[in-house]
Amino acid sequence: MRCAYCQERAGWFKRICADCQRLYNLYTQRRGQIDLLQFLDICIETGLPREKIEAFMNADPYGSGSIKDQITADMSTELLGAMGIRVQQTAQDVKRLRERGAWHRMDEKPEE
Ligand SMILES: [Zn+2]
Repeated sequence: MRCAYCQERAGWFKRICADCQRLYNLYTQRRGQIDLLQFLDICIETGLPREKIEAFMNADPYGSGSIKDQITADMSTELLGAMGIRVQQTAQDVKRLRERGAWHRMDEKPEE
């Protein structure tokens, strides 16, 4: 079967390849504590190719938002919480906003 994230061969009866599993574990260990750029740094430290990391972060195999959307959601929940606003942003919210073009991607400089 092919990996649900990077689309490379994952092996028999596997939905996720060893590399993406590794990245996913890194994500779950640090979830809610890191922003996108920090997570990208951690991924790059694994020595995996950049294309693989990007494919992993942008994939949305379950239709509920990519890892990137998930991290963005965690961070905005955190930021709003710090301002005293209790909301739970979900990856799906971020995905919706992103698809409407209303959301600046955090890893890109906003256009001036
Ligand atoms: Zn993979």
